[in-house]
Amino acid sequence: MFQHTILWLDAVAEIAAIVAAEVVRGMNAFFLRQQIRVLGSTPPEQRTQNVVVVGASFAGYHAARLMARSLPRNSHYRVVVIEPNSHFQFTWLLPRFCVAPGHEHKAFIPYGGYISGTAPGSLQWVRDWVTDIGKNIVTVGNEDVIPYEYLVVATGSGVRQGLPSRVNATDKTEGVKLLREFQASIQSAKRIVVVGGGAAGVELATDAKSKYPEKHVTLVHSRSAPMHLWASSLQKAALEGLERLGCELILNERVIEQDDKAGTITLQSGKVMETDCVVNCTGQKPSSELIAKLSPSSIASTGHIKVNPNLSIRDDSLSDRVYICGDVADTQTPNPNARSAMLQGSVVADNVLLAIKDQKPRHVYKNHWLQGFIKLTLGLDRSVSLFGHGETALLFQSREKKEDLMAAQGWKHLGAKPFVDDSSSPKSC
Ligand SMILES: Cc1cc2nc3c(=O)[nH]c(=O)nc-3n(C[C@H](O)[C@H](O)[C@H](O)COP(=O)(O)OP(=O)(O)OC[C@H]3O[C@@H](n4cnc5c(N)ncnc54)[C@H](O)[C@@H]3O)c2cc1C
Repeated sequence: MFQHTILWLDAVAEIAAIVAAEVVRGMNAFFLRQQIRVLGSTPPEQRTQNVVVVGASFAGYHAARLMARSLPRNSHYRVVVIEPNSHFQFTWLLPRFCVAPGHEHKAFIPYGGYISGTAPGSLQWVRDWVTDIGKNIVTVGNEDVIPYEYLVVATGSGVRQGLPSRVNATDKTEGVKLLREFQASIQSAKRIVVVGGGAAGVELATDAKSKYPEKHVTLVHSRSAPMHLWASSLQKAALEGLERLGCELILNERVIEQDDKAGTITLQSGKVMETDCVVNCTGQKPSSELIAKLSPSSIASTGHIKVNPNLSIRDDSLSDRVYICGDVADTQTPNPNARSAMLQGSVVADNVLLAIKDQKPRHVYKNHWLQGFIKLTLGLDRSVSLFGHGETALLFQSREKKEDLMAAQGWKHLGAKPFVDDSSSPKSC
């Protein structure tokens, strides 16, 4: 009881600190907008110094918003965002939308709303891949070069196979098509094998079995419990959720061979299983290749980019100008997620804004257990949420009424009206 009181007080204090920081940022941005309206701001053509942000997902999009809205009125800086995707891809919804049809478009939130209200010329959007990073420039696409004074790397993580963890298509139309094809393959399958018992694997397996109870759904996981990176109470809840629906669970096993022609997979133990649909939910890796070329010593054994406490890169030759945030950063965050990515984006934005005023980038990122809050769906109509850490963690079971989960809130949070999309390409600001 006493421990839970401490837990709640700790959570309230952390939330209060985050809200207070956001209110201060919001007020500063508001007063700046009023000043700009009355006094004007640096003409766009004179904003020649670039803060380049590579990647506009939870970390980069948030950092870009905070910086562009807070650049001083007479600043010669502008924020240049480089992102290949036509829309913000809402990862949380992907496992669900790989199974439940009719919602695919909701995973693609139009860019633009979240970065509105910035001074003219303070934000430039480039829809492309960064293909190379140098000490002072980034290369975009085949040959275009953009110089930078400050660089924010927010390239996140990825998987080679794409869905259900990542879309692996930059265009919304193609992404929607891939989701529909995935749904069709689940619908037509009789024996589905899901590989990987992390959140995506558990959610997809339970969704598939809940929607199609007649199908045989197996989850293969290499550890002794699903959700093994989380508190034991969540592992138990995941196990019970899978069992309740009638999913088969194979633990401490790996798939070592997949024969699509024969319709089989082989496990490490030698067991051969029949299947007509294999869903791979493993293999997420940090997207750090560009920095690996520029600064090989900054890459940790996990593939993450090493950072200092203020999220500058841990490379003395670059650390005064290059910052890293989100899934790609080696912050020792136990379970990296959108909240930790956005909070890191805030720290980086605050530090870059200090640096361009010749002040010490003094803000530091500390992971707090609250950032690890997780809501795990266990079938189409229920979920379990984990609040807390270690043995004091609390678990809440809930009924889910909406098949599209929290899609509408996500849209609103990112400044878009659910589910109105009149842009087929990102906004240039
Ligand atoms: C299936 C799934 C479900 C999840 N569910 C939840 C959840 O419920 N709650 C939660 O909090 N978190 C959840 N997460 C985790 C969350 O999605 C990540 O922690 C978060 O997306 C990390 O954000 P990021 O900005 O660091 O990177 P990412 O989201 O990985 O985005 C990186 C961005 O960088 C861009 N990029 C990459 N390389 C380049 C390049 N060379 N040039 C230009 N741009 C580039 C990409 O296009 C992308 O937009 C989930 C993740 C997955 C995979």
